Amino acid sequence: MSELLDTLTKRLGERGVLRDPADMARYVSDWAGDRLGMPLAVARPASTHEVAEVVALCRRHGTHMVPQGGHTGLVAGALPAADGGELVISLERMNRIRAIDPISFTMTVDAGCILEEVKRAAAEHDCDFPLSLGAQGSCQIGGNIATNAGGLNVLRHGMMRQLVLGLEVVLPDGRIWNALNVLHKDNRGYALPQLMLGSEGTLGIVTGAVLKLCPRPDQSRTALLGLPSVAAVIELYARARRDCSDLLTAFELIPRRCLELAMEASPELRDPLDAPYPWYVLMEVAATGPVDLGTMLESLLEHGMEKGLVLDGALAASDAQSQTLWQFRESMLEGQRRRGEHLRTDIAVPISRLPEFVERASQAIMEASPECEIIAYGHVGDGNLHFNILPPTTLPDGAKREHLHALEKRLFALLDTFGGSSAPSTASVAPSVTPISPGSRRWSANSPKASRHCSTPRA
Ligand SMILES: Cc1cc2nc3c(=O)[nH]c(=O)nc-3n(C[C@H](O)[C@H](O)[C@H](O)COP(=O)(O)OP(=O)(O)OC[C@H]3O[C@@H](n4cnc5c(N)ncnc54)[C@H](O)[C@@H]3O)c2cc1C
Repeated sequence: MSELLDTLTKRLGERGVLRDPADMARYVSDWAGDRLGMPLAVARPASTHEVAEVVALCRRHGTHMVPQGGHTGLVAGALPAADGGELVISLERMNRIRAIDPISFTMTVDAGCILEEVKRAAAEHDCDFPLSLGAQGSCQIGGNIATNAGGLNVLRHGMMRQLVLGLEVVLPDGRIWNALNVLHKDNRGYALPQLMLGSEGTLGIVTGAVLKLCPRPDQSRTALLGLPSVAAVIELYARARRDCSDLLTAFELIPRRCLELAMEASPELRDPLDAPYPWYVLMEVAATGPVDLGTMLESLLEHGMEKGLVLDGALAASDAQSQTLWQFRESMLEGQRRRGEHLRTDIAVPISRLPEFVERASQAIMEASPECEIIAYGHVGDGNLHFNILPPTTLPDGAKREHLHALEKRLFALLDTFGGSSAPSTASVAPSVTPISPGSRRWSANSPKASRHCSTPRA
């Protein structure tokens, strides 16, 4: 091992390889902070050729690798095993915007670029890179690609899969695969780069990407609404999809408890409506050009109120007010994190069946564990639900994981009957990175996809 590390240090320089445990501290856990790994070392290549060299060297030495982006993935996929045998390859020094073409609406970037920086660079050219998520100040484009990230605007712009035109990848044997296609129409055979979307570091290390841009919206409207039930949320959503056409960019389902968690985490936030409601929707419409978004939204809300779907609502009158409404969505994650170990899931069910799923899943979980707390929120447009569970506070720390694991099994058994899917959760897989036996032909130690729960075959 020391021969490998010495060679790496010679090739990448002192800045390129971290070996001291103190220097490696920020690479051993992810945003959730409830898992710890221990890398052999952290390689920080600064170019695609350096990544290729690192990979080729690791292959020669039979050393396992874990590519790492902004470690915001929440399911410990970017963490090395705890046995100190795996090399973390961090892309953080590869953060160059390579090119922007505002006429073709494309942008070519290093995979280590932070999502927020990419959005900022696009905005400077009056374009928008529409992927938006709470972790955008830290997560990297490579991580977004590897996890096929979704976020708040999937409804209108799709997941990362729909936002990538081409890729540059270092393959498991150290070869560089240049598929940096910039064409919107490309019928040259198989769409091979798409294989990398959602591959979570198992097929290669993404080093560069061509991203699809869109015109930057010059107006938007945000509303936070109080609703009586998930069924009302879905009925309103179906109406909004028709009435707001393609201009609906976000439609978030939020339970009352999440608003409370957000206010606990960010005490400057005030209850946005006069009375509490069991469910809330945070929605946004956005457009470029002469479209009357205000009237469109108001007429939808009038309809919702007449039908008893919407009980109350707040319409942001300025960008600052809109940001405050979005702060609820962001702070509620921090509020959950502060509650310590809990079950986090990332589920999808057919949108029309969300109300039934929430009801039946809540019943199944409460029957098994009446003292736990359910926190179910998600992006309605992708049928996405984070059906999270806080364990009973009376349960001793050592018993929590097993308890949550049993609840997760119940939840996933029900999910199967809905034809749903889920990324791996975090309370149950401990640790998600498993050491690999010597001589194994597996490319990287982290293959969370293998443990993905998916009841229907993926195309
Ligand atoms: C506050 C918050 C909000 C979030 N909101 C959403 C959301 O709305 N929608 C959503 O989909 N996700 C969301 N996420 C999770 C989301 O998946 C990640 O934020 C992001 O996509 C991961 O990027 P990262 O750079 O942090 O990747 P990491 O966590 O570092 O890595 C994730 C996985 O990708 C692999 N990987 C990383 N970089 C590369 C690379 N260059 N090549 C190959 N493999 C690589 C890693 O090995 C690991 O398996 C959220 C996370 C947080 C903390």
